[in-house]
Amino acid sequence: MDAGEWTVRVGVATEVGRVREHNEDAAVARGGVYAVADGMGGHAAGEVASAVTVRTLAELGSQAERTAGQVLAQIGRANDAILAYSRRRPECAGMATTVTGFALVTGPQGPSWVVFNVGDSRVYRYADGSLEQVTVDHSEVQLLVEAGYLTPAQAAVHPLRHIVTRCLGRPSWPPVDEWELPVVAGEVLLACSDGLTGEVADGEIERLVGAGGDPQEIADRLTARAVELGGSDNVTVVVVRVDASLSA
Ligand code: MN
Repeated sequence: MDAGEWTVRVGVATEVGRVREHNEDAAVARGGVYAVADGMGGHAAGEVASAVTVRTLAELGSQAERTAGQVLAQIGRANDAILAYSRRRPECAGMATTVTGFALVTGPQGPSWVVFNVGDSRVYRYADGSLEQVTVDHSEVQLLVEAGYLTPAQAAVHPLRHIVTRCLGRPSWPPVDEWELPVVAGEVLLACSDGLTGEVADGEIERLVGAGGDPQEIADRLTARAVELGGSDNVTVVVVRVDASLSA
């Protein structure tokens, strides 16, 4: 993706981890659309829900341009596609998935990122040596943090930490959180499943991204560290770096 002043480079890595039999995470990184989905459901149905979701979002990547509204509408279509699949395959009934990511969109002021989230996968932004979480988890423990009952550190190890309060795959479209960010040369955007953040603390993610290298090296480094620290869940990372274009 080249907008004249900058180019985008991407790396994607996924690992099943050390405990799970299947990898129910899925990712898309295509044509300015970058997302991670973490599927849930018995008998590997979670794999289907996350795969249907990223496939639906990938359709946006084949368009030359898109608006934030189109991105949000496509997330709704992913919800419908999961439900339609569940109706055809009873063994997939109840399957669901998180989805989070970011897409290059066009608006009146030119290109920008739209960041979107449903569930407890996350988007982070790294710039000028520091990492910031952009998305807010839709989870039971996040509600307890916001109400002042848990600290973020307590939430990270709480038994309810895997319970999400919003997902795709339910009869009505869930509200999708969205943020619009400018595209800034030098920044790194990261979409990841909770298999990363459940194992690797934010401070270490910051150091591992800050160690630099190609986006693929960063993605591989992050997933390898999550597996090394336990690998208790599937872990998936999409890393996008915005480079100043040489021609600019
Ligand atoms: Mn997970």
